[in-house]
Amino acid sequence: MHNRDVAEMLDRAARILALRGENRYRVRAYKRAARAVISAPEEIEQLIRKNRLQSLEGVGSGLAAKIKEIVRTGKLPLLERLETGKLPPLEQNRQIMLASALTLVSELIPQLKELSGVGRVEVTGDVRRSREMVSEVAVVVGADDLAAARESFKQSDFLHQLSWDGNFCRAIHSYGIPVALYLVHRDDFCLTHWVTTGSKNHVQKVAAAIEKVTGHDLLSQEAKTMPHSFMEEEEIYELAEMSYVPPELREDAGELTAAAKGALPALITADQYRGDLHVHTDWSDGTADVEKMVKAAAELGYEYLAVTDHSRTLKIARGLSLERLAEQKKFIASLQEKYPNIRILAGIEADILDDGSVDAPDEVLSGLDVVVASVHSGFRQSRQKLTQRICRAMQNKYVQIIGHATGRLLGKRDPYDVDVEELIRTAAGTGTVLEINSSPDRLDINGDYARRAKETGVKIAINTDAHSQLELANVGLGIATARRGWLTAENVVNTRSASDLLPLLQRKKLNRQ
Ligand SMILES: [Zn+2]
Ligand SMILES: [Zn+2]
Repeated sequence: MHNRDVAEMLDRAARILALRGENRYRVRAYKRAARAVISAPEEIEQLIRKNRLQSLEGVGSGLAAKIKEIVRTGKLPLLERLETGKLPPLEQNRQIMLASALTLVSELIPQLKELSGVGRVEVTGDVRRSREMVSEVAVVVGADDLAAARESFKQSDFLHQLSWDGNFCRAIHSYGIPVALYLVHRDDFCLTHWVTTGSKNHVQKVAAAIEKVTGHDLLSQEAKTMPHSFMEEEEIYELAEMSYVPPELREDAGELTAAAKGALPALITADQYRGDLHVHTDWSDGTADVEKMVKAAAELGYEYLAVTDHSRTLKIARGLSLERLAEQKKFIASLQEKYPNIRILAGIEADILDDGSVDAPDEVLSGLDVVVASVHSGFRQSRQKLTQRICRAMQNKYVQIIGHATGRLLGKRDPYDVDVEELIRTAAGTGTVLEINSSPDRLDINGDYARRAKETGVKIAINTDAHSQLELANVGLGIATARRGWLTAENVVNTRSASDLLPLLQRKKLNRQ
């Protein structure tokens, strides 16, 4: 078994434990173990043979035993137990993070497809619109024989407490998450998928537009008598005389007017993304060494990767002294020769200090390719103080990107009190880029702010803030957030080629010299 497989299993366990609302420390322990395993200096089997598993950071005797079990059996007993065990108590109105919901979706869809009589299955509702927090996971399930499909739902071992309303079913998944299942005949799949995707206001307004044109009410039962059933959502928008609206925009937030004029933006897509500008390595609080991160980025087909470890003041994250930072820069230059196909950018995530100064002297910052500046302290300061602090950092001509600008942690910590409108204005005025941080619990700045930033002429960087190779994959969450913010490739700096990117990032420095 490869380290990646073991790490992915541990990571999956962490996500599922989080989904079930289990003890945060237990979740974190699995997450740390996953990071440690994927970044391990040797193959896990070697470490087991040498009895050195516990030399990995964050792996104690308990997790070491579990890792051994995974390698021996190819399975994680915890996951098996979770799948068959007792349901956790349901918390009322619990909101779950998009990333967790997507984890469930990735398990649920194949599970449903294996049931007899089930055809196409697609995610719908808030998750399909990539809302950052959701209260349930909804799917549309297509079948030719509805009665047979209903029976197979009942027989399944992963759906519990089923309650039916016609062909709509509510259930609790083994992981303790409420799921909504819309069981439909193949011919009704597309319309149901569109209606259940929402948002409610969006759907009603489009349906009203269609009724005006055709005289048919799409949402009434008589919709069945309409001349044809839809194969693609595009046909629905065509009937409404609108261009197709991607799910992320269906919030009744101006998209209908734009769609009627054919003026919706061409949203950024994953294949336009060319490299990550904010990751950590084991030089500070990441777990993988620089080379492992570079290799993983190269495997993703990236054209560049910026190494941005923490700065000296952030002791808790083993921030780099100026000497270590200089050493790292040299190391990166030497490593570059080995990897001609990906540009390794030397950078820093510098703390924005209490007075708004940046945690490294200008002459050091000026020698780096990428400078991210972020707030990691003083979250309780006043709105005025925090706003001034970050705005002052943006006045620094070497600061290119403001990291996770509001500091929120979804479900854990509210954003600090900061005037984001003012940050956006200052970013526009100084030519500073704002980050969409793709960490599952950050998604910071959010889609609404990203849209404001775009309207104000501010460029956005989509970064993962990865602390191991595994987390580079979180970029999808950042791209989803950008899409909710109406961003196009043009608005996002990470879509630039390496040769276009650096002048863009360094335009503040270049303009003012
Ligand atoms: Zn940070
Ligand atoms: Zn960071």
